[in-house]
Amino acid sequence: MNDLELLYRQVIMEHYKNPRNKGLLDDPTYKAVRIKNPSCGDDITVQTKVENGVIKDIRYDGTGCSICCSSASVMSETLIGKLKEDAMTITETYLNMLTNKEFDTNVDLEEAIVYRGVNKFPARIKCASIAWKAFEGTIEESE
Ligand code: ZN
Repeated sequence: MNDLELLYRQVIMEHYKNPRNKGLLDDPTYKAVRIKNPSCGDDITVQTKVENGVIKDIRYDGTGCSICCSSASVMSETLIGKLKEDAMTITETYLNMLTNKEFDTNVDLEEAIVYRGVNKFPARIKCASIAWKAFEGTIEESE
């Protein structure tokens, strides 16, 4: 493992141990989408509040492996406060990166770049994707 991989791993473990924005809110202004990944046992629900075209808040809850839970935390921190369009661009870029598709390296993925190495482990790609896909689902639902 090189230094960069070690750093990435530390970021992932830090978010796993100290999750941000965890816990769902009982608030009808939030759209919620739940996605499960039966092959690993991951089960994540994401809630999003959009106001005036800005991602005002993201909450999530659920259970799963360290990759899944940490990626939900990183996703929430990366996307809160972004314009809806920018959040969708970041999400698309992130998902393309994970699945070995061509992706725009000019898009700043911020901390989400730490999941770059996941594409080497096909079984974990879904773990790292579901929170972001659930986020996409909440945006589609709010439209
Ligand atoms: Zn998993």
